Amino acid sequence: MKFSQLDLSIQLSKALSHMQYSELTEIQEKVIPKLLRNESVAQSMTGSGKTLAYAVPLLQKITIEERHPQALILVPTRELALQTKKTLDALGLYLHTRHLLLVGKQSFHFQKEDMKQRTHIIIATPGRLLQHIQEHTVDLSHLSMLVLDEADEMLNMGFSDSINAILAEVPENRSMLLFSATMPAEIARISKKYMHN
Ligand code: ADP
Ligand code: MG
Repeated sequence: MKFSQLDLSIQLSKALSHMQYSELTEIQEKVIPKLLRNESVAQSMTGSGKTLAYAVPLLQKITIEERHPQALILVPTRELALQTKKTLDALGLYLHTRHLLLVGKQSFHFQKEDMKQRTHIIIATPGRLLQHIQEHTVDLSHLSMLVLDEADEMLNMGFSDSINAILAEVPENRSMLLFSATMPAEIARISKKYMHN
């Protein structure tokens, strides 16, 4: 399947072709059409191209004029968060979407100030995001899309309680995408509790 068959916005299609992507990978074929229909998806298959598998539907569904963050991407490490932001920035070049990093080892104060500007997508590691939730410096009440990337890795790093606390803060009716290389009991529990289909 080709990206051109997906009925994406002109801005997103243009960015994809500038990035020289034309054919979807296997995982993208499985995930993108479902997310475009607002379905939740849990994928334990390993495969490449997961970032685009969620970034394309997220950007297709963003309402540019909305002031509150609409999507949250949770990843286990700062490095992965940075890499994800780069991909989003490239894909969002013509949409002019704003993507904000909330990760550790960076100034909490600057992140708080940054959040006062319109932000479309938040990319975060669980520890720092939870800190913002506790300090009331992040507004997750308008989220319509949530991604847990490398969920098993986040659990291995001891983020289980943080993830549960974050999930309790996001609206019930958001769509959710969970990627995990393995499916331990805790991941199965999270997907059962928080994903409706
Ligand atoms: P992972 O599933 O391991 O997280 P990534 O999302 O990081 O994989 O993507 C791995 C590599 O595959 C990246 O370099 C990315 O640019 C490339 N890639 C992703 N989707 C496509 C595609 N549809 N066509 C060609 N290359 C792609
Ligand atoms: Mg990845």
